[in-house]
Amino acid sequence: MYPSAAVTATAAPLPTSAPSATLAARDLRALLPDELTSWVAAAGAPGYRAEQIFRWLHGHGIDTLEAMTNVPSTMREALEHDHPLVPLTQAAVQTARDGTRKLAFRTHDGRAIESVLIPDEDAVRNKLTLCISSQVGCAIDCRFCATATLGFGRHLCAGEIGAQVYRATALAGRRPTNLVFMGMGEPLHNFDNVARALALLEHPWGAGFSPRRLTVSTAGLVPGIDKLGALKPAPNLAISLNATTDEIRERIMPINKKWPLAALLDAARRFPLSHGRRVTFEYVLLAGVNDSDADADRLPRLLRGIPAKVNLIPWNPFQGPDFKRPSAERIRTFQERLRKAEVSVYIRSPRGDDIDAACGQLAARELVQLQPSARA
Ligand code: SAH
Repeated sequence: MYPSAAVTATAAPLPTSAPSATLAARDLRALLPDELTSWVAAAGAPGYRAEQIFRWLHGHGIDTLEAMTNVPSTMREALEHDHPLVPLTQAAVQTARDGTRKLAFRTHDGRAIESVLIPDEDAVRNKLTLCISSQVGCAIDCRFCATATLGFGRHLCAGEIGAQVYRATALAGRRPTNLVFMGMGEPLHNFDNVARALALLEHPWGAGFSPRRLTVSTAGLVPGIDKLGALKPAPNLAISLNATTDEIRERIMPINKKWPLAALLDAARRFPLSHGRRVTFEYVLLAGVNDSDADADRLPRLLRGIPAKVNLIPWNPFQGPDFKRPSAERIRTFQERLRKAEVSVYIRSPRGDDIDAACGQLAARELVQLQPSARA
């Protein structure tokens, strides 16, 4: 049932340095308000310029300096010199039958990433969720995930994370109501840039997202969960649990060798939750692997004491591994058993799967073909 590679899976140390992204490190879009304020002061300009520039970048989502029409051209030139605006080029948009849209981007160094805009099926709630990427490829190597097949490319900088939101906002004609770090990459492996992106997205001079509308999803990097919980304010936490025993989890998620279930669930227990908030547990259902009645009975016991909600994600296929999605009946039975144990549990219907935009299907395939070096 398991792909043969799973047998030899090791939890190798995660890559610490990314291929050079020096331009990205100076990106104007990655500067926090106080950094912009310091730059403006050093340039001898009046303080209000910092807010003005930040509003253009993060409120209006502009992507050229010329668009800052009320900022003097000499100041724009100085900015361009010290902090160029790193481009994120929108390469393609695909629309699925269910209205989900996948945005493909090319980074300044020719890498491919994707974001997914998911309108709510319930028109009354009018929710618009944007799923964003935090890395080019991914180093975590989960056996059931298409992004893993790319290997690790590099971390995205905070500006590149924010730019996905602003491009999607322009495309949709409105700001997404919710942002989820559930696209390509492991956000907690790229903690510093993700934390900076959260601060930029939350700032009232810019898009002003409430931290309640932001969710960071992790494959289970325990120290990263603690660091995320220490952010003031902390966003929502989602954990890709995907198994109820260390034996199975290790086989489908090698990261479990480093941080096994007990350590992961302790971290979830420590995560600060203000009133009414819960930790989301994602559970990819793989037929014959993690979908048994015994799994359904173990899960509530594992989650005991954690304000939790479980999202069951029937496996979305892609070319390669030998997994199968369980039957509709098995999925319902699994959900029912959890319900009986008083777990809040939802089945995530695949969104945008006809354009490979559903959970775990992001692999920037078209662009990667043009750029074989993206494979690690
Ligand atoms: N690396 C982070 C962010 C990615 S979130 C994390 O693992 O949480 C992507 C979600 O899709 C994860 O919950 C993952 O378990 C799930 N997923 C991955 N591949 C999938 C597939 N083929 N079908 C369904 N869900 C999948």
